[in-house]
Amino acid sequence: MKIEILTLFPEMCEAVLSASIVGRARKEGLVELNARNIRDYTKDKHRRVDDAPYGGGYGMIMQAQPVADCFAALCGDWGERPHFIYLTPQGKTLTQQRCRELAAYPALALLCGHYEGVDERVIEALVDEEISVGDYVLTGGELPALALCDAITRLLPGVLPAAEAFSDESHFAGLLEYPQYTRPPVWEGRAVPEVLTGGHHGKQQQWKREQSLERTRRKRPDLLEEQE
Ligand code: SAM
Repeated sequence: MKIEILTLFPEMCEAVLSASIVGRARKEGLVELNARNIRDYTKDKHRRVDDAPYGGGYGMIMQAQPVADCFAALCGDWGERPHFIYLTPQGKTLTQQRCRELAAYPALALLCGHYEGVDERVIEALVDEEISVGDYVLTGGELPALALCDAITRLLPGVLPAAEAFSDESHFAGLLEYPQYTRPPVWEGRAVPEVLTGGHHGKQQQWKREQSLERTRRKRPDLLEEQE
């Protein structure tokens, strides 16, 4: 699978995409992740990519031309048109379920807005899907795009050692994960639940399931309501 981030700040993306599990997956060729600088495609002689909004209002708007030409160049380089996502607070809130679906696409392009956003016409003309990372506003789409790359990459075959690494986790099956512990067995007077140190696999699995349900009920009852 390949994902390309269309951004005005590729260096910001490169730093994150080179680190930790995602960086390793990239090195091992399990996923192709890159950032492309939208500014490289501007036709403005001063390399400008933004201008003031029509009708007045605060801030600057990213122009359609550099975004459209950047996307066209990507399609040309790849010889195919990727599914094109615009990260925006106006999009549908990202879920684990949507990450699983997106992980099955062969190619994705992620558009990061900046300043006050992107000229609506290029969104209408080219974008297939709008995704938000939550009901709050960031200064740019890079952090949301990186969150999406991270969430998708860890689902790809071979990236994590076993499928259970994510199938047990919060949101995979509509529940939150059970509490986890590591050594020492007692820390500042707090002991690890006895069932986990006892070695009875069946009982441990049952405890995990019960804890998972209990904490979903307590912390995120809305998740259980959604399943009813
Ligand atoms: N004026 C826009 C609005 O009110 O909808 C917000 C623009 S925001 C300051 C600049 C860019 O950050 C957006 O174009 C988008 O790419 C990104 N962004 C900000 N918050 C986001 C969120 N919650 N989810 C996804 N992208 C976001």
